[in-house]
Amino acid sequence: MTDNSVAKMTLPSGALLIGEDRISDSTGGRFEHIFPGSGQTNAEISIAGAAEIDRAVELGWKAQLDWVALDVETRRDIMLRLSDLVREHMAELTAISVHDNGVPITVSRLQPFALDRYIRWYAGAIDKATGSTVAGGGVDDVNLVEYEPYGVVGVIIPWNGPLFQIGMNVIPALAAGNAVVLKPSELAPLSPLRFGELVLEAGFPPGLLSVVPGGAETGEALVRHPRVRKVHFTGSTASGRKVIIAAAENLTPVATELGGKAASIVFADADLASVAQNAAFSGPIGLSGQNCASGSRLLVQDSVYDEFVAHFTAAVQAAPMGDPFSEANFVGPLITESATDKVMASVDAARTKGMGQLILGGQRAGGDLASGYYVQPTIFSDVDSTSPLAQQEIFGPISSIIRFSTEDEAVAIANSTVYGLVNYVSTTDLARAHRVARRLESGTVWVNQGMDVVPMAPYGGYKHSGNGRAGGMAGLHQFQQVKTIRVAVPAD
Ligand code: NAD
Repeated sequence: MTDNSVAKMTLPSGALLIGEDRISDSTGGRFEHIFPGSGQTNAEISIAGAAEIDRAVELGWKAQLDWVALDVETRRDIMLRLSDLVREHMAELTAISVHDNGVPITVSRLQPFALDRYIRWYAGAIDKATGSTVAGGGVDDVNLVEYEPYGVVGVIIPWNGPLFQIGMNVIPALAAGNAVVLKPSELAPLSPLRFGELVLEAGFPPGLLSVVPGGAETGEALVRHPRVRKVHFTGSTASGRKVIIAAAENLTPVATELGGKAASIVFADADLASVAQNAAFSGPIGLSGQNCASGSRLLVQDSVYDEFVAHFTAAVQAAPMGDPFSEANFVGPLITESATDKVMASVDAARTKGMGQLILGGQRAGGDLASGYYVQPTIFSDVDSTSPLAQQEIFGPISSIIRFSTEDEAVAIANSTVYGLVNYVSTTDLARAHRVARRLESGTVWVNQGMDVVPMAPYGGYKHSGNGRAGGMAGLHQFQQVKTIRVAVPAD
């Protein structure tokens, strides 16, 4: 079932894209990209150093002036041309996405598809830009409130869904009239680099988007650059904290999209079999649990606890794990050997310290999968909701099932972590669904459905899950500054 045309494809260049130039002899050195499904070398990646960041920022400022000099209909049409190109290259972008991070092809298809949705939504926003007028001090004064781009913004994204992240964060930045210096993770840089080529082909001014892969050091050079006017960071809460501290030196504003520890609350009146399916895909199956929105804590009402656990375990067991290039598989490897070690350390600690009862998985996969970074989907039941297993983001295919009896108890447990990205509620009681959704401390609550991030609605965190919003007009305003133009109109 392995699709050899995808597995053996010629990968795009790992050279930086700065303006129209591909740069392979960058000052940040080289990185050997490993395919997580096999542990074998996949590609050579150039890493951006401070000199390349500087060049990208400089070109960005020139290109930004060219971009905003175009009328809004022309800018909209260039964005729509980009959508056409993404559609034409859907299969190729999917295949590169699989190579980037080892997420199975069955799931990676979502990457270019989601990117395209954001492009089309924000293309539509370009020619509908609005401001407002508000009352002025004098009777006839005119007060205009307008939104302006920042100029050059730095966008830093993680490896778990690069094209989706580009849709959420690069597209609105461009639509708002900015230039973007995009720093993808060195662990998944290939689809962002290929996307950068399509941006040039679509007719955006060269340099409006530069793609400069690298790790923390490259990211820090971007964050500290004095001519970057805004930083958008997506990644772990720990790195987000460092980014905010580094940006503070130049008082550069930072929008953050950080980690999560979502609760999926299952009330006794829910359709347990279908909830279990959704919870499996929004939990340990989709992206092998390497998902900020992963419903890694399942809070289950005690009267249906055993029945739900049986449905959920069956749904998780039914999802085949293995070769990401096979159309048969839904669970892939983790991103690196060290990520695998970290996840296994959390599992081992949970076992030895009795944080819950292990009822499925708990091992690194062996046999044919031993050379890749595969961890078996793992379920702990009767988990102590205050334990590290239930409080910390593990970022692997690990589910914690926790009992509750009352609505108040469920809400208290759900809100008990430092995170607040998303939560899930399953119930057929409409009043309860609304009541509970309002009480949950998170930027998104999905009711009676699995994870579904869409371009029309804002997505982002509360608490330690960050302050940024991707999607909707909130996502556009994040890349704009507000200006008031006060026109005095003297009385006759
Ligand atoms: P990470 O924090 O290690 O890295 C994220 C990005 O930041 C990478 O490009 C990395 O090179 C860069 N980076 C790391 N340290 C930096 C620093 N000090 N200065 C500047 N840049 C730095 O996270 P990761 O392992 O790549 O991704 C997983 C994390 O991302 C998880 O915590 C997950 O929940 C989170 N995430 C959040 C969202 C969201 O929308 N809220 C979406 C996807 C992933």
